[in-house]
Amino acid sequence: MPPRFDLGPKPPLGYTASRLERAAELRPDAARLAALAADASAGAYVIGGDLIVAKKIGAANEPLFTLAEARAFGPPTETIFLGLCAGAGRFGIGIAPAAAEALKARGDLLVTDLRSIAVQGLVAQDHLPPIAEAKALLQWHNRHRFCPNCGAATALSQAGWRRDCPACKAEHFPRTDPVVIMLAIAGERCLLGRSARFPPTMWSCLAGFVEPGESIEDAARRETREEAGIACGRVRYFASQPWPFPTSLMIGCHTEALSEEIVVDRQELEDARWFNKDEVAAMLTRRHRDGLTTPPGVAIGYHIIRAWIEDEINFD
Ligand SMILES: [Zn+2]
Repeated sequence: MPPRFDLGPKPPLGYTASRLERAAELRPDAARLAALAADASAGAYVIGGDLIVAKKIGAANEPLFTLAEARAFGPPTETIFLGLCAGAGRFGIGIAPAAAEALKARGDLLVTDLRSIAVQGLVAQDHLPPIAEAKALLQWHNRHRFCPNCGAATALSQAGWRRDCPACKAEHFPRTDPVVIMLAIAGERCLLGRSARFPPTMWSCLAGFVEPGESIEDAARRETREEAGIACGRVRYFASQPWPFPTSLMIGCHTEALSEEIVVDRQELEDARWFNKDEVAAMLTRRHRDGLTTPPGVAIGYHIIRAWIEDEINFD
């Protein structure tokens, strides 16, 4: 029997399946890292705040620079070691946001935000995971220049994977903020919501930060109840996605809706409603009669919704 919905080829989930070996054992080894950085095969991603810098090469964009090219953009705020790609060192180089902004004037460079790069496919897919790694880590440095324990200025160590406080000796490690993103399902219908920040046609899964002392399952149930007034029962983990805006990890789930009446929290959402499978399939394939859409294929929201349409979800 042919599948009920033909949604076309499945797009890759953005920022995942990194080809880099993180090689954490090299982080304290300054001599090895210096040798890797000096090798002709070394490459660096250059990031200034939210802006990613890439070279224009014909119609393509190349975000990997030699270290000499990267350093020519100005003094780095940080240089971090991302890992090895087939034995070659890969680094992230932070520059001041104003310096990145100024590079927009150069015709030989593309300087834009990571969302645009990912959604529009402006660089080869393989570059997205290391760019996400570099962006999240550099943003952590930007926000953790002072010790939360005693207030003294901290210093980068471990090739960017720690900050140390010289005053109280505390060691600070990069953080990742867990976010649950879930699709509540009631048989042939699912619950989608709209944030006022979304493009005007887009609807997606509900989402929210996991709070301290909370499980993923409890967070998924709480957020669905708070944002849309829907009670949920069982929760099934689906997949996760790094979301470097600035340092989140999206934890994708499906959850079983136990109630029907929606009460929208207007502080969080512009709207929320039930959608049936025919309507959502049309949204996924950009054929909805009113032009409604789901998130783009790089985002985990697309994949959570698509998995439900393709009947991969089982709560038992
Ligand atoms: Zn301290």
